Amino acid sequence: MRVVVQNDKNGAQRGRVAVRGGLALLGAAAVVSGCTAPARDPDVRPAAGRQPHQAPPAPRLDDYDARRSTDRAALAAAARRWGLDQAPLTPPRPPAHKPRITARAGFEVDGQEELGLPPVFTTIPTRQKVVFLTIDDGAEKDPAFLRMMADLKIPYTAFLSNYLAKGDYGYFRKMQSQGITLNNHTLHHPYLPGLSYAEQRDEICGMQDIMEEQFGKRPTLFRPPYGNYNRDTLVAAKSCGIKYAPIWDEEVFVDHWEYRDWDRSLHPGDIVLTHFRGRSDWDGTMTDMVRRFLNKVTREGYAVARLEDYL
Ligand SMILES: [Zn+2]
Repeated sequence: MRVVVQNDKNGAQRGRVAVRGGLALLGAAAVVSGCTAPARDPDVRPAAGRQPHQAPPAPRLDDYDARRSTDRAALAAAARRWGLDQAPLTPPRPPAHKPRITARAGFEVDGQEELGLPPVFTTIPTRQKVVFLTIDDGAEKDPAFLRMMADLKIPYTAFLSNYLAKGDYGYFRKMQSQGITLNNHTLHHPYLPGLSYAEQRDEICGMQDIMEEQFGKRPTLFRPPYGNYNRDTLVAAKSCGIKYAPIWDEEVFVDHWEYRDWDRSLHPGDIVLTHFRGRSDWDGTMTDMVRRFLNKVTREGYAVARLEDYL
């Protein structure tokens, strides 16, 4: 599914109005276009004059010390192999004391704090120059993407929607074996505020069941499709074990970035969205998208950290 986020200052204002009005159509407005079948990407070719990639097995992406100990020279070589402008920065050690995560202002629902509903947020409160990469849906299942992320030691968090992921659960099991946490993005990717409480619960809790069956774990993170939700969404999510509902502050595509905030820039702790998409959806591959993402964040002095380390 293609999601276009409107990035203007009015997004948050609309959110606040919606809360007061009880509509709770929160977050950014979204425009939806159809999904298309994933295409198979060709493998990444080594740069001219370089040997094909023969790296030793990569450390799991949730193994902080192993990632940190990676030789900078080896990382620089990997960066060259994947066509990056420079080697990605190494993130700081995960915080000993986790930050307190609350709903972004204007993104709360009635009873948010009193009922302990999962907070919807777009940024982790931190002063560290880190951003978090999150990848949604599950249409494209590009083996080169898995190799690239392991090779470059870049952590990320996946939000799967079953109607797309079920085409090849094995792909996501491989991702999981590399230390990536798989999370809940509903069974069928509906516009949740248009559904009854019971229907929303089926979408979210039904996906919890599938995730447990297929991947052996019930996620604690849930992302509402298009970033749209209401109070029922968060009540339903909580009822089946969800603790957090992270959305995003920026979205990266293969050929551009979109921003939620008026300043159109990265901030420490920002959550960045992208999608499992390939050439059938956009003009490039997953690895092209990652290249764009990493070149910008590295150039601006940000490291990519693991979202779960901050929750
Ligand atoms: Zn989605």
